Amino acid sequence: MSHEPKPLPPGATIGILGGGQLGRMLALAAARLGLKCHIYSDVADAPAFDCAAARTVAPYTDAAAIVRFAASVGAVTYEFENVPVAAADAAAPHAPVYPPREALARTQDRVIEKQLVAGLGLPVAPFEAIDGVAGLRDALKKVGPRPFLKTRRFGYDGKGQVVIEEGSDPAVALAALGGVPAILEGRVAFAREVSVIGVRGRDGEVRHYDTPHNTHEDGILRRSVIPSGLPERHQQRAREMATEIMVALGYVGVIGVEMFWLGEDASEPLVINEIAPRVHNSGHWTIDACGVSQFENHIRAVAGWPLGSTVRHSDCEMENLLGEETHGWASLAAERGTCIHLYGKSDARPGRKMGHVTRLRP
Ligand code: AMP
Repeated sequence: MSHEPKPLPPGATIGILGGGQLGRMLALAAARLGLKCHIYSDVADAPAFDCAAARTVAPYTDAAAIVRFAASVGAVTYEFENVPVAAADAAAPHAPVYPPREALARTQDRVIEKQLVAGLGLPVAPFEAIDGVAGLRDALKKVGPRPFLKTRRFGYDGKGQVVIEEGSDPAVALAALGGVPAILEGRVAFAREVSVIGVRGRDGEVRHYDTPHNTHEDGILRRSVIPSGLPERHQQRAREMATEIMVALGYVGVIGVEMFWLGEDASEPLVINEIAPRVHNSGHWTIDACGVSQFENHIRAVAGWPLGSTVRHSDCEMENLLGEETHGWASLAAERGTCIHLYGKSDARPGRKMGHVTRLRP
């Protein structure tokens, strides 16, 4: 759109591409502000549909359906980073799209994402783009021991990546990823994994939440603990790095920037791992421990509203409920000081994110 769109008033509708738990929690936050959501998903039983005023079930590649959807809403956003850029482009003539299509385009491909970060002068692990076994053998000489080989696109929750162990056959690793274009990443000897959850409004105002300490199991986020124990100067640096990325992208909305923290005395204490151009799992605790959650702040930014307070009123720990762990809902619901969130998914497949709990320590 050529002109700066007006803020969406209460009663207006925001279109969300994607119908998972992130879309569901966005829709719940929008409802609190008197805004409605139209959810677009390619599956008929998307968890976000339970909380939406309108729904579209169609493939993300159906340009005509995207146009109808965008024409029915005041602004379009997305809740997963693998929305085809073509879908954002099809929507854009009919409604403003936030975060901007560049954020989507640059973060869908790990090589392009790393080039963006490195181009800003921010630290990333050593990396090499991989197109075949010969290139992989060369690259292995450059990035250090036990590196990660990852697909350039469509990786999530540790899927689409393998560690190349000393003495193992690189051809086997590449074949395990299906022979698709890949990236070889040097292993970062981190002390902790942390993330910055930041938000940028349409007017360019930037705010951040406290930095959580994140623990992963089998590549899936297990828990986020706040405070993270990082020295304030390192938290400050982490926030600055996320801000530089948001400004470079002309970003609007919430961003999750995953980082490795290398310890108190490291000369380069923070290395950027991954950018999520959306609300982030490591920010779920903000629903219960902050005045305004990441979900509400994303909706505020997309709607052109003033950003809300990111101040935290409680220490807390967020734990994901994976697969059958969700069956423990009754005893979790009875825990004092525990806030339970269930995503309305019926099939508790192993490793599937079914809900989360936030344990508050005010
Ligand atoms: P990713 O999907 O790229 O975020 O990777 C999933 C998890 O694998 C991360 O949260 C880290 O625990 C680990 N990991 C990925 N890349 C690296 C790396 N370059 N160095 C060390 N650990 C990594």
